[in-house]
Amino acid sequence: MSRTCLFCGRPLGRHQKKYCSRECHLAARGLALRKEGAAQKYPQLHDPDWLAAKIAAGGTATTIAAEIGCARATVRAAMQQAGLNQDIDPRRGRAPPKQVRISADLAARLGLLEAA
Ligand SMILES: [Zn+2]
Repeated sequence: MSRTCLFCGRPLGRHQKKYCSRECHLAARGLALRKEGAAQKYPQLHDPDWLAAKIAAGGTATTIAAEIGCARATVRAAMQQAGLNQDIDPRRGRAPPKQVRISADLAARLGLLEAA
């Protein structure tokens, strides 16, 4: 006898009780994995067109965050993911340089020096 995942129906492994994977376990509960949490909670943030329109209308991470009720950092992350990070307030934004030819580790250290 073999049991199957309550969400996707795939056969369960020996140690699995109800779901075949963490994804199915969370999806069955209406949740998503952490990395997709923002998409679930703030779908607008993962719509590049919506974000771009907001920014074009003068919106910033701060105003957008206030509008949809999330943290500014969440908006900033979405902007970066959408490639819209050039509109981040330069005093506040910590977007990495577009072209990095050195290791990320070194860049992080140099970043501190170049900031002046
Ligand atoms: Zn499954």
